[in-house]
Formats: sequence, C-alpha cells, structure tokens
Amino acid sequence: MDLSWNEHEIAFREQVREFTEKNLPPDIREKQMHHRRLAKDDYIRWHRILAQQGWGAPNWPKEYGGTGWNAVERLLFEIETFKAGAPRLLSFGLTMIGPVLIKFGNQQQKDYYLPRIITVEDWWCQGYSEPGSGSDLASLKTRAERVGDKYIINGQKTWTTLGHHADWMFCLCRTDPAAKAQRGISMILIDLRQPGVTVRPIKTLDGGAEVNEVWLENVEAPIENLVGQENEGWTYAKYLLGHERTGIAGIGHCHRELNILKRMVNEAMASGDSLSLDHRVMDQVNQIEAQVLALEMLLLRVAADSTAGPGPQASILKIRGSELQQELARLQMQVAGPNAWAYDPAWMRQENDFHGPGGEFDIGAAATYFDNRKTTIYGGTNEIQKGIIVKHIIGV
Ligand SMILES: Cc1cc2nc3c(=O)[nH]c(=O)nc-3n(C[C@H](O)[C@H](O)[C@H](O)COP(=O)(O)OP(=O)(O)OC[C@H]3O[C@@H](n4cnc5c(N)ncnc54)[C@H](O)[C@@H]3O)c2cc1C
Repeated sequence: MDLSWNEHEIAFREQVREFTEKNLPPDIREKQMHHRRLAKDDYIRWHRILAQQGWGAPNWPKEYGGTGWNAVERLLFEIETFKAGAPRLLSFGLTMIGPVLIKFGNQQQKDYYLPRIITVEDWWCQGYSEPGSGSDLASLKTRAERVGDKYIINGQKTWTTLGHHADWMFCLCRTDPAAKAQRGISMILIDLRQPGVTVRPIKTLDGGAEVNEVWLENVEAPIENLVGQENEGWTYAKYLLGHERTGIAGIGHCHRELNILKRMVNEAMASGDSLSLDHRVMDQVNQIEAQVLALEMLLLRVAADSTAGPGPQASILKIRGSELQQELARLQMQVAGPNAWAYDPAWMRQENDFHGPGGEFDIGAAATYFDNRKTTIYGGTNEIQKGIIVKHIIGV
C-alpha cells in the first residue's frame, strides 16, 4: 500500500485549504481556535457555506447530495478544515442517521430527510443511552407502543449531546418487551418539537452544558417514522455505531490541537518560561506528533481495507483517537501551567472578555482538559471497545 500523497491529492488538499481560508467566517475560526463554545448558528452557518460549495456531505455518495469523495479525500478535507479552525461537522445527521437512512431507510425517508441534513434544516440528536443503559444498551426501556397508525413513546434518554438544539431525535425504543433484549428494539425518528418532550441540561466538569436529559411522555411518531423493520433496530443501531466510532478518531481535531500545542510551546519559550524549555516537554511534543501521524496512517489503512463500511476496526480508531485527544489536552494544560487558572466558563460562552495571564491559548487549556475526559466514555467506553476487539478481531 502506497501511503504517500499523489498529485491529485496534493492539489485537492490545496483546494480545500484555499477554500477554507477564504470562506470560513473569522469569528467562528477565532472561537474554535481558542476553545470558546460555538453557538448553534455558528455550526449552521459553516454547514450552509459548505453546502453551497457542494461539500455539505463529505461522507455520502453523490446520488444523495454527497461529494462522492474517497477515504483519502475525506481525510484531507477533515484535516485541512480543522487546522484552519473550522467547526466539526454535525455528526448526528451526517455520519449517524444519514448513512443509516441511505442503507436501510425507505425512498420517502431518503427524499425528505437527507437534503435537510445537508443544509441543517433539521438538527438531529442521538437517543440511545438511558439511565442504566449505556454500555448495556440492549437493556433500554423506552417503550414505543403501536396504536393505529402511530407509535406512542414513553421513556427517558440521557447524555443527549446538543439535544437542546435538536429538532429531531433518532431513538431506540422497545417495541416488543417479550422478545430477547436485542430482538425487540426499533429505531424511530421523533420530532422533538411536540408536547411531551422535556429537555434538561446536565452541567459538565468544564462548566458547560452540552449534554442533556430528555423525557418522552406520550410522545407521538407516525409509523412512517420507523426506520427499516419493526424490532430490527439493533442491526441499524450497530451499523450507526461503527460510523460514530470511526468519526470519534478525530484526526482533524488531533492535528489542530497539535498545532495549538506547538504554538503554546513557542509562546512560552519566547517568554522565557523554564518549564517549556525543559527537554522533557519537547520530547513529549515530538512523541505525540509521531502518534498523531501514526493514527492518520491507521485511518487510511482501515479505510482502504473496508468496502462494506466500518467494521470492528472502528473500535481501534476510537480508542487511539480518544486517548490522543486526552493526551494533547493534558500537554496543553502542562504547558499553560499556572496560567490555566484563569479558566472561566463565562469566557468560554463569550459572556466576558477577561483573558487572564499567559499566552493566548492558556485560558482555554483547563476547559479543554476537563472536556476531553469524555472522549474515552462516549460512543461506547474504551473498555467496551477493547471487549469488541478481543471478540471480533483477535477472536478469543
Ligand atoms: C459527553 C458525553 C456525550 C454523550 N452523548 C451521547 C448522545 O448524544 N447520545 C447517546 O445516546 N449517548 C450519549 N452518551 C452516552 C455514552 O454513549 C455512554 O456514557 C457510554 O456508552 C457508557 O455508558 P454509561 O455511561 O452508562 O456507563 P456504564 O455502562 O455504567 O459503565 C461504567 C463503567 O463500567 C465499564 N464497563 C461496563 N460494562 C463493562 C464490560 N462489559 N466490560 C468492561 N467494562 C465495562 C465501562 O467501561 C465504564 O468504565 C454520551 C456520554 C458522554 C459522557
């Protein structure tokens, strides 16, 4: 396998770089690079800029409005846009429910939902986890009862990322309580803008409130909102998780944070900070750079090997990517040192402009560090991923 970039790829990378440089709104870039929180509108603006260019769905086939890019092009797009300070693309529509509808949805669902995902007419969230049903997802209790031509849904979901922005939830519901756990689950699309839906924020370690609890009380969904077949939702749920985990590898994010780390080291050195001049810090920066490049190679190899979508290898990418994201945040915190004390959630939400001491990135270091505690948990914990690797790759 040749892992060097060919002429087309180099030109493609240049095209993405130039486009992003010219079209990414500076206020979004500024927030993203300094680890300040993005507003709902920031994500939507960037999505629509990309959609206008025909790049709104980098991971979808052309016939559904996607770019039809191959794995290398998608990787280059992710790295270059992230390095330039672009927001992550909203995964709930693009890399989760989108691919599921493309593979398992009916024509009507494809025609209606897919174009709306590309322009974020609908903001999606993921209704999988429940209190007591995280790793043991198949034990979920949210109940969908078929009454005439609709489902009546009752239950509670938790950890719903950006659910406070969402219009729609793809939701795993129990449709046959008598069946074996995995057999009686269905995937249902729920319009969250109806009575009976309550969304409450969960405050996180970094002072943010990105995750939510969602209550569903006698919420309705017409039977047209069932994805695929009733009671077969587990199959679609697993397919979706493979895509989610590959996305969590976050190679673009790793490259951006690596660049920020290097800039922090340079700033600290210029100011004569003895910690950053320490060769042990430099050694760790060099090591993590090598590891980010190794992850990139791994992503390319997995992409080149998989014709049927992400398989259990996605678990390897999830583990490695999440560990590197945590390590990059830890190093940034180490380089910021005592200057990280200035961290203030109100600053993250642009509610004040108090910057505190130190270099330009120091103030965001603590929030990033705390926020990144989540990466080894969400999308299925790393312990669970190791179980999948042992069972499906090593074969024990
Ligand atoms: C920031 C964040 C965002 C999230 N966003 C969403 C979202 O948008 N939508 C959604 O549906 N869910 C979301 N989740 C939920 C996430 O997928 C779950 O937290 C995750 O699957 C773990 O489940 P749990 O929290 O119930 O932990 P538990 O299952 O209770 O696990 C607790 C600990 O026990 C370990 N453990 C459990 N079983 C085993 C086993 N068999 N072998 C070895 N170790 C085991 C786990 O690894 C973990 O360390 C999010 C979570 C976080 C933290």
